[in-house]
Amino acid sequence: MAFVSLPGLIYRASTPAVRVSDRARLGWSRSAWLPRWRQSFSRSSRLEVNGGRRRSAFRNQQPNGGDGLRRVMSSASASSGTAAGAMQSPVSVSVPERRVGDVVHGFRLERDEWLPDVRSHVRLYRHQQLGTELVSVTADDENKTFGVAFRTPPSDSRGVAHILEHSVLCGSRKYPVKEPFVELLKASLNTFLNAMTFPDKTCYPVASTNVADFYNLVDVYMDAVFFPRLTPDVLAQEGHHVELDDVHGEMSFKGVVYNEMKGVYSSPESVLMTRSQQVLFPDTVYGHESGGDPGEIPDLTWEQFQQFHERFYHPSNARLWFYGDDPEDMRLGKASEFLDDYIAMRQRQGKSLTVDVSASRIPLQPRFSAPRAVEFPYDADDKGKYLATVNWMLHGTTTEVDLERMMALLVLDHLLLGTSASPLRKALIDADIGEDVLGPGLETELLQMTYSVGMKGLASAATVDRMEQIVHGTLRSLAEGALTEDLVLSSLNTVEFRLRENNTGAFPKGLALMLRSLSTWLHDDDPTKLLRFERPLQALRQRLQAGEDVFQQLIRRELLDNPHRVRVTLRPDPEMAKRMRAAERARLDALRAKMGEPELQSLVQDTQRLRAKQEAPDPPEALAKIPVLHVADLEPRVKTVPRKVIREHADVQVLWHPLATNGVVYADVGLDWSRLPADLLPFMGIYAEALLEMGTQRQDYVSLQRRIGRYTGGIRPVVYVSQQVDERGRGAVVQRLFLRGKAMVNQTGDLLQIVSEVLNEPRWDNRERLRQLVMEEKAGLEARLVTSGHVVVANRLRAQYRVSDWMSEQMGGISYLRFLRQLLQRIDSDWESVASALARVHQCVVTRQGAVVNFTTDVYDEAVKPHLNEFLSSIPAAAASMDGPADTPVGAATPLHARNEALVLPAQVNYVGKGGNLYDVGYSITGASLLAAKHLGNGYLWENVRVKGGAYGGFCRLDPRTGTFLYLSYRDPNVDKTIEVYDQAPAHLQQLSLSREEVEKAIIGVIGDMDTYQLPDVKGYSSTLRYLTGETDELRQQRREQVLSARMEDFQKLGEALEEIRKRGSVVVLGGGDAIEKSRQRLQYDEVMKFSEL
Ligand SMILES: [Zn+2]
Repeated sequence: MAFVSLPGLIYRASTPAVRVSDRARLGWSRSAWLPRWRQSFSRSSRLEVNGGRRRSAFRNQQPNGGDGLRRVMSSASASSGTAAGAMQSPVSVSVPERRVGDVVHGFRLERDEWLPDVRSHVRLYRHQQLGTELVSVTADDENKTFGVAFRTPPSDSRGVAHILEHSVLCGSRKYPVKEPFVELLKASLNTFLNAMTFPDKTCYPVASTNVADFYNLVDVYMDAVFFPRLTPDVLAQEGHHVELDDVHGEMSFKGVVYNEMKGVYSSPESVLMTRSQQVLFPDTVYGHESGGDPGEIPDLTWEQFQQFHERFYHPSNARLWFYGDDPEDMRLGKASEFLDDYIAMRQRQGKSLTVDVSASRIPLQPRFSAPRAVEFPYDADDKGKYLATVNWMLHGTTTEVDLERMMALLVLDHLLLGTSASPLRKALIDADIGEDVLGPGLETELLQMTYSVGMKGLASAATVDRMEQIVHGTLRSLAEGALTEDLVLSSLNTVEFRLRENNTGAFPKGLALMLRSLSTWLHDDDPTKLLRFERPLQALRQRLQAGEDVFQQLIRRELLDNPHRVRVTLRPDPEMAKRMRAAERARLDALRAKMGEPELQSLVQDTQRLRAKQEAPDPPEALAKIPVLHVADLEPRVKTVPRKVIREHADVQVLWHPLATNGVVYADVGLDWSRLPADLLPFMGIYAEALLEMGTQRQDYVSLQRRIGRYTGGIRPVVYVSQQVDERGRGAVVQRLFLRGKAMVNQTGDLLQIVSEVLNEPRWDNRERLRQLVMEEKAGLEARLVTSGHVVVANRLRAQYRVSDWMSEQMGGISYLRFLRQLLQRIDSDWESVASALARVHQCVVTRQGAVVNFTTDVYDEAVKPHLNEFLSSIPAAAASMDGPADTPVGAATPLHARNEALVLPAQVNYVGKGGNLYDVGYSITGASLLAAKHLGNGYLWENVRVKGGAYGGFCRLDPRTGTFLYLSYRDPNVDKTIEVYDQAPAHLQQLSLSREEVEKAIIGVIGDMDTYQLPDVKGYSSTLRYLTGETDELRQQRREQVLSARMEDFQKLGEALEEIRKRGSVVVLGGGDAIEKSRQRLQYDEVMKFSEL
């Protein structure tokens, strides 16, 4: 709960069109230990990844490995033999021979260790003159990662740490351009490029699989943090400033972080998470908002800003991290280059070489002697409900904790909340008092660990009391003996499987390890401490086998008998937005009252000056300093994945992707649901969710979940809709329901058996359970409207142009939300029809006809072969015949309409979209079109929507499969103005003239997107999808060649096509009521929907 999970981070990491820089945390790993999928708002962050790169083809799922759905994350394995065995092999990359005490490039080797738990060689160096610590991790992983982290405790909530995080990326000594960071996004092969502010630290990580590219990124980042060009104008742009266009005009606050945090504060979940952390630490730095409270950001002064950098961005307060397969001496050489320069600079300035790092140490929060309760208002409409959490500060610190206790806490956390069958989650859901469980559970990233659980959608203050009683009551009964062995083993195996598999999805493994390491390293403790888990896990297993009541003791000591506990309630307050606006206005009015005509004049001039500065292009000679690859350095061939077709048949097709998976088997069972009648389409989403969550004829859902947890690595559903590759973007719709599972070699049979049982013996008779699932699904979607509004807008626009995208919207967009709200009522009023609809969906979906089964593994012969035939024959041969009148399959005839829409919701920011279909206006899409679109996003839209307009992001999307092109903005203060920017884009492209270097940069950026780093499970799955849609390697190669040979004419041609979108395109806006009302006249909405009335 310590960090508000800002979508910006994920957003940025996946779609290099919006500022990466962020204070965020990733949803999958809030404790830096294990993938987590439980908070609804982290689910929403993940959705952005879809929205960004893979579009609506994936519903609710991230294509690159991270599991999208909390409730299907159960996993486990007892087959420690295989996994542990695989871990013993040393890395193949050579590590130079060295002894503790040796000095290289000014760094002294302090520790040297082979760490089998993470299959890595880990060395700790210390810079002799500056004291900077450097961890060098050598591992068999081409996804090289670098990070620099500073301890940056804030002393108030003015957001200085966050604003500085943005600001150092706005130009530096060697790279004197406006945003070197953006230049890197445009023209590097990075697999990760971002920055994050935490409550106690700021991290700047980069990753790449290309060595030269990697060191380019490291170079720019090192220069940025140690030698930034901080000026009052940078603070004004990234932090806050007052804008005034003419002396009689209206003043307003502007600033990137200011607006970003307003967006964060529009999400009640984010507010709740922030408050839940702060109240546990009223006496320390953790009591402040390191991201900046919008009400306090304007108080930040230039002096404070400068001093913060001087105090904390010093090498002696820095920690450097390198990970991957690059040579160690290159790392040390690169780091020392910058540190030597730093020393020279300090000597020139006559300043001391080191600073007192004890000044940044995080103090301990004294323990409470009695529990507390606090309440905050939040901005909601009159139908808003309560949200609340119960929070504990646990005993001890991350640096003191012994690893066995840490393992036990991780298992306890999973045991209480990890799956729908977990007792605490289940008790809260079963009580039928709220819509969804939230709170991150165990948090190990702060110096003192915390635990947090709560609910949203609570009806009243009395319901909040009730929730708290349920939490305590459940914990008490568990401590008194309600913990079963079955439950404990399921969670233990899940934790073990995940730690060993270490599947970080699209997030670099090296970065996940860095964040885990920093939990102790930041506090001057052993950086490798939390990287170990094998021995403490085994010790924990033995204690459990010996009958010790480990978890009962933990529950009592850490939760039940722990008085350092705070209940946080968020109360809906329909007047709050009005009050906040009034307060902002009053503040500006007071400011104006103090100013005379000359001051006002000078403010107008300042506004114009800052704007002119932002608009002025960087001098070409400065831009040329940014180190970039050249097109000649790029791999001309597309990356292919080895695929074997084991069985090519009219019914089931079987694929095998032989990739090194360390003894894990990834199985994707894809069922063709193209026979589904149109009237059942909206049910498809909730059906997929329910399939593994309603139990089977033999087991109720609790036992089924535990069985999945104990004998597999997890199974999750993915509804896939896309279309066949076609040169007019009108290919046939491709529909599959995937059950994606994983297991260790010797558990493959168990995995396939469970899938087979789920498909053959479903049950749809549990009304209460379905109601819970619908409620949860609905709550998740509602939260996403605010946190990922641009995805909602994108889906809505796409749905106007292609049937496959229309179907996605029906199963995941606003239409789906409307359906779910009605479904909740139908479950009460007409349960029979709901149950029979689900059963009918099941009949249409479950058939061998058109099914595809994919295995990605290096142990196919041992693991899969023996079970394959039995499994395939267990899938019913043909879909049961359907009755009823509505027998038209969905894909056949669906009317699509382009129209302007607005959706009003309580929000302080807007999401503005405009789009159309390029094929439909006669344009042919090639690889070069992607290049021109990317350039438009990173250049023109970035500058105009974000830098000048004050939105958090502005970008565009072109889907080469369907031909749909979209302009989108993210957390935008404007509506009309943004549409104007979009409408001037065609002219911009047509007049554009780029040097060959600039075109080359754009080429590198697009190739970087195409070569996204993927873990084996994602490689196999993506290859399966390409197999289904006819996207051949030849086609991919052709597209790559088009990118590599792109020219200026390609930009102009896209400009011409976009001219048609300007005239004929449609607009969708999601935002606050006032903003939409103001834009109504110009945009002539065909429909204005209200969130509360959907
Ligand atoms: Zn930010």
